[in-house]
Amino acid sequence: MTSKLKTVLLNIHNAAKTARRTAKDITLVAVSKTQSSDAITPILDQGQRVFGENKVQEAAEKWPRLREKYTDVKLHLIGPLQSNKVRQAIQLFDVIETIDRIKLARAIARISAEENKSVPCYIQINIGRENQKTGIAPDEADNFITLCRDELKLPVQGLMCIPPAEEDSKAYFTLMKEIAGRNGLGKLSMGMSDDYQDAILCGATSVRVGTAIFGAREPKE
Ligand SMILES: *Cc1c(COP(=O)(O)O)cnc(C)c1O
Repeated sequence: MTSKLKTVLLNIHNAAKTARRTAKDITLVAVSKTQSSDAITPILDQGQRVFGENKVQEAAEKWPRLREKYTDVKLHLIGPLQSNKVRQAIQLFDVIETIDRIKLARAIARISAEENKSVPCYIQINIGRENQKTGIAPDEADNFITLCRDELKLPVQGLMCIPPAEEDSKAYFTLMKEIAGRNGLGKLSMGMSDDYQDAILCGATSVRVGTAIFGAREPKE
């Protein structure tokens, strides 16, 4: 039986081929939010090493144990980060994908210096300019990126977005690629279970896939 993970990896490979890219240049971030350690272990045993969590607290409860056995795991924070959780996030995560406001950027810069740990960061872009979503507006992105890099000296490597639901994502992905390109940023985190192949065609360097690997999440209580 082919595992869901294998199917996703094959789809990534095929999308990369269509885009005349190599699958090596695309990182699969397996989104393990809400999944128990028992659900995550088989995915680790199949060789997956990069995971995404959206809550600092939940990641802190699950991953230190798992990392004792799987020491080469890389964790991406893909959910909103409150200022009072920044220190814990810096200690726990290998990439923070969700810098979405200046206050947070300043806190990360200050606490990274205190912790003597530099965590690669992505800026979250509110690419559909949706009121209910956080992130930097597309027309403010250039200034914000410059401020984070030049003034705060943050290791900004790329951009992340969650495009509007129920819409074709491709135009949004293309806009993301333009913003990254003109700012000299190499990493683009975009594409989820429903649209990761499109994201790869549009230039994603990492895709964040949960449901297609783990199955449907339990509905929130
Ligand atoms: C939950 C989540 C995902 C994964 O979504 P699926 O549709 O389950 O693949 C990706 N990115 C973010 C930011 C998420 O919160």
